[in-house]
Amino acid sequence: MITEIPTPEDFRHAGLSLLNLAWDAVSSMYLDLENSQVEEWDEKGEATGEFWRSAQRPLANAVVVAQQGIEFLLKARIAEVTPLLLISTQPRDWPSRCDREDTAFAEFRTIDAQDLVKFHDAVHPQRLEDTFRTKFQRFRALRNSIMHTVDKRLWHSAHELCVQVLEASHALIGSYKWLELRRDYLQSIPVAAVYDEYEPTWQLSWEACLLLEILTHAEGTRYLGVQAKQRYYICYQCTVNLRDSDLQPKTAQLHPNGPASVRIYCFVCERDDAVVRRPCSEATCKGNVIQEEDSVCLSCFNEVAR
Ligand SMILES: [Zn+2]
Ligand SMILES: [Zn+2]
Repeated sequence: MITEIPTPEDFRHAGLSLLNLAWDAVSSMYLDLENSQVEEWDEKGEATGEFWRSAQRPLANAVVVAQQGIEFLLKARIAEVTPLLLISTQPRDWPSRCDREDTAFAEFRTIDAQDLVKFHDAVHPQRLEDTFRTKFQRFRALRNSIMHTVDKRLWHSAHELCVQVLEASHALIGSYKWLELRRDYLQSIPVAAVYDEYEPTWQLSWEACLLLEILTHAEGTRYLGVQAKQRYYICYQCTVNLRDSDLQPKTAQLHPNGPASVRIYCFVCERDDAVVRRPCSEATCKGNVIQEEDSVCLSCFNEVAR
């Protein structure tokens, strides 16, 4: 009998862990760039260009890792139908004596990466979208060239890598799931195991703000569910959770969008909050969206007289 058969959850866990590893790499590059304050004095963009030039090898590594993660997520979906489908070869090529002795699943050869999408769409009740299929093939080709040669013409973009991860999360896990998956991952990193106070809120909010900066409007809507052309306000809950940090993430939007709207939603903490509409009392602030309970302006975060 075939033993030690992995569950869809096992594959998903392996895949998400790799996607997060790739994401960590990109996120830390953006953080370094911000902390070095290069962009503030680098008017011609020369130093910033140099930064990304020097980032090419780590970015290429991250592409490889992310692609590996995506393949695991595809296997997870195939395994939802049944994990045994992943065994690709004819019984005659199976491990010898597997009919006589218990043999672990890992001893069997599984489907080649290049066939995963086709195989998935043949067996899974929900076929993949064309956008994902196209991106997957492109990144697979890119991964192969990274693995097999040093092609100096290749240029790896951090933005594109983020989109690769977000598209995979969208297509293989579900809409607007990445930040939730990211939170779960950050809550499982080694420091979280030994330090009770560890909270990934800062990292998550910082990354969410970064995404609003680097994604196109269409990408923001597709992957985060935000209304990209609509104004953003400081999320009260996220900012309170950030305590001592000076980050005030503008990750909340009115819904519906309108001058009379009294509800605000943050795509990071997923809280839907009540606001009142009256002008902020700060002379320099044009805000008119005030958090109801504590009377705080969500444009400048000052307390407003009631
Ligand atoms: Zn929030
Ligand atoms: Zn204000």
